[in-house]
Amino acid sequence: MREADQSPNTAERAPLQGVGREAAAAEGATEPADVSGRPLQSAAELAPTWDAICAEIRSRIQPELFETWFRRAALAELREDSVAVAVQNAFARDWLERYHRSVIEESVRASLGRHASVELRVDPELALPPREPEEEEPVAERSAPAELVQQGAAPTGRGPLDISNALVRGSDVGLNAKYTFDNFVVGPCNRFAHAASVGAAESPGAAYNPLFLHGNVGLGKTHLLQSLCFSLLENWEGVRILYLSCETFVNHFIGALENGDLQAFRNKYRNVDVLVVDDIHLLANKERTQEEFFHTFNTLYNAGKQIVLSSDSPPKDIPTLQERLVSRFKWGLVTELEAPCYETRVAILKRKARERGRELPADVAGLLAERIDNNIRELEGAVTKLFGYADLSGEPVSAELAHVALRDIFSVRRGGPTLDDVVSVVTEEFSVKLSDLQSRRRTATIAFPRQVAMYLARRVTRHSLEEVGGFFGGRDHSTVLYAVTKISGLLERDQGTVDTLSRLLERLGERPL
Ligand code: ADP
Ligand code: MG
Repeated sequence: MREADQSPNTAERAPLQGVGREAAAAEGATEPADVSGRPLQSAAELAPTWDAICAEIRSRIQPELFETWFRRAALAELREDSVAVAVQNAFARDWLERYHRSVIEESVRASLGRHASVELRVDPELALPPREPEEEEPVAERSAPAELVQQGAAPTGRGPLDISNALVRGSDVGLNAKYTFDNFVVGPCNRFAHAASVGAAESPGAAYNPLFLHGNVGLGKTHLLQSLCFSLLENWEGVRILYLSCETFVNHFIGALENGDLQAFRNKYRNVDVLVVDDIHLLANKERTQEEFFHTFNTLYNAGKQIVLSSDSPPKDIPTLQERLVSRFKWGLVTELEAPCYETRVAILKRKARERGRELPADVAGLLAERIDNNIRELEGAVTKLFGYADLSGEPVSAELAHVALRDIFSVRRGGPTLDDVVSVVTEEFSVKLSDLQSRRRTATIAFPRQVAMYLARRVTRHSLEEVGGFFGGRDHSTVLYAVTKISGLLERDQGTVDTLSRLLERLGERPL
């Protein structure tokens, strides 16, 4: 192994200063000196120290992760109390910063034998193809890592597969052919989630296991999950993927309990290469199913199988989720899909128009992106509606037409119910006061109306979980999430709640349930 024959005594060399890659080109040349006469440190001189640090990093993370994130990195500077590590682009820097900083710090400390702060910086030259292999290094070791960041899953050339056969029968949900990595617009809001999904598809069971994607509705979780399935099917002949919604898992489990064929259920769920469960937050309040999922998870995980989960909230915020599941969900990579920024919204609108063989004028795209700002599904709906309207009316797509065609969407944005409206209908319905809703009191006569108010606030206003929690007595966002889940659960099984909520929604000018 490369690291075995390096034993740099770097402590003796510090403090030294690094220079850019020019120095590598000038390997063997007389070393330059800075104004103080201190020798500058060439890339060649830094290499042994970097190799030693890499050996430590390797011992701490999976090989695939090392290949992806560290193979092209380099030591840029070495001082007594600090080191600078250079990577090929800002994305790699941000990723390392977010997910691997502590590993780098530990590895630096272990290899240098002292604490040194770590700076991550970008050196675009590192993005160039890797240097020719050096003699002592076997070529195979040098082979460039799959470039996870920009390109997405590279097809292996094995040719298309019959997708229906490859998916485990019983996946129930078919994949939507539109949900591929190619059709996914990457922006600052979702680039980590996208890269992680591509990475898991390239190295299933290794790099990010489990992969846990979370984010609000309509931000692309299902799209990424299905893209990952497509990518696996393309690249791994005969892969057995079980893709399903959490609801299906729950229903199958209950069915198996009722019919007494738990064994068949377990055979099905535990004999796959990849298990993908959408909307895992629906495990909330389902104790028995959580228990079963825990065992499914363990069996697959221990066998090195890939598990991919999506949820509307991070593991710790899923109400009543067992602690052992929370901790397992965090073993791999937890990453969030955020609401898209303006530029990404415009890019998505244009992509969606093009998918329909149309072009969206820039001013119209701008208008839609301004008005619809936190849900990609709504952006897509607006494009469909606008083109439909244009075709029917025979008018060209314009900002004016958009105002007419999308007036319901636009007007909700402007004149929709406010938190005050929610409070006024809830306090009247339940004969409670605003101060009760905002108080700490937890008696059922107050707690239930408060939960209804939180549910309605999330449903009819655009306030975030934090804002709603803050409004109702400075509560945590997880309290709001709990309220929303609880009321949603009641709406599924309790007609009284359905009637009450329908009445309240109607009074808020919304469609009843
Ligand atoms: P979620 O599962 O998070 O609720 P979906 O994956 O169903 O959201 O996405 C909603 C819609 O928005 C889908 O039609 C999907 O194709 C589209 N969408 C979401 N994110 C993107 C994106 N980054 N690029 C293109 N389309 C997207
Ligand atoms: Mg979804």
